[in-house]
Amino acid sequence: MSCLVVKFGGTSVATIERVMHVARRIQKEKEKGYDIIVVVSAMGKATDMLVDMAHEIMPNPSKREMDTLLTTGEQVTSSLLSIALQSLGLRAQSFTGWQAGVLTEAVPADARILDIQPENVRDALGRGRIAVVAGFQGVDDKNNITTLGRGGSDTTAVALAVALGAKRCDIFTDVDGVYTSDPRYVPKARKLQELSYDEMLELANLGAGVLHPRAVEYAKNYNIPLAVRSSYVADEGTIMREEVEVEKGLVVRGIAFKSDIIRLTVSYDANYNGSLANIFTILADSHINVDLIVQTIIEGVEPSVSFSIIKENLADTIRVLEENKSKLGYSHVHIEENLAKVSIVGSGIVSNPGVAAKMFDRLHRENILVKMVSTSEIKISVVIPQEAMLHAANALHDEFELAASLAIQA
Ligand code: ASP
Ligand code: MG
Repeated sequence: MSCLVVKFGGTSVATIERVMHVARRIQKEKEKGYDIIVVVSAMGKATDMLVDMAHEIMPNPSKREMDTLLTTGEQVTSSLLSIALQSLGLRAQSFTGWQAGVLTEAVPADARILDIQPENVRDALGRGRIAVVAGFQGVDDKNNITTLGRGGSDTTAVALAVALGAKRCDIFTDVDGVYTSDPRYVPKARKLQELSYDEMLELANLGAGVLHPRAVEYAKNYNIPLAVRSSYVADEGTIMREEVEVEKGLVVRGIAFKSDIIRLTVSYDANYNGSLANIFTILADSHINVDLIVQTIIEGVEPSVSFSIIKENLADTIRVLEENKSKLGYSHVHIEENLAKVSIVGSGIVSNPGVAAKMFDRLHRENILVKMVSTSEIKISVVIPQEAMLHAANALHDEFELAASLAIQA
């Protein structure tokens, strides 16, 4: 029998009433004759509450204990949902990550899934049970409980879909799909019917919170159809596939934005002749993620390199730079805070010249200063002052006519 993996996020299971609603929704899918594997998140804000409790004890609790603590959130949901399904007369069985065979790296708080050995799950399905798996968790080779990073239940769902050869993986959430931009801040944003994995991956990495980036990466690598759907509205949602038809010449398909970006500029004496790359090796060794990089080397001018980081990494970055000042041989570091990154994403960008020019021109007309730029085949990102972030996102949404195609489609 073909199987489906369905995942329900925290808001969808925030109360007992919603857990019952989810159970009835699963009952309908089950009646269509599928084997069903359900992956659940912790109820509502349960994970945040557990984090807060640990932080009441100390600011930097051990990551191992945090993993053990946080995984209880998902276990509460998986057992309650199994009980809810049983109350409807269905057969159901809950699984923790390790019971479901989710094996991960030994990296606390942010482990990647290495393998899934789903024999127990398969066995339960064979007995006609609905398998309800606690998301976001696994076990390492030393039997430590691990977590997959915040939002990681999506990844559990996709990885299980791959391991079990599922027909599809549906991520049920409180939004009804993936939008051209965040509708809370870009009022003209509209829902996309489909999106390529690559476009979704860019949007997820650029800050669209709707899917965990690793889940998209996994779906792409194994070509599993992935859908984002509403827990409340009966609708197809947004489907992600390898290739999608580009709607009526729509080159740009989405706009993402992220606040709290910081630019650091490290400058050297004019006669410096070492490698500017050294800095990035040292930062990488300290697990500090650098995003955009701009390096300027002009004859006779003091060389400098600018790069952007997220606010959370500022203290660590400064510390690492100061500790290695003599080794790196720089003369000065300039820090600029209160910046944001706004990005346009679309598979068509690579084959359509002039997209960047159009973007910069619109930002210029809106009097928005562009501080850094980075491009890939399917995206263009700019770093701009934070106070202009939403203004820029809305202006670009108009410029690339993302709302207009609603009218064409209707
Ligand atoms: N409960 C975890 C979190 O809040 C994992 C998830 O929901 O996917 O990040
Ligand atoms: Mg999520």
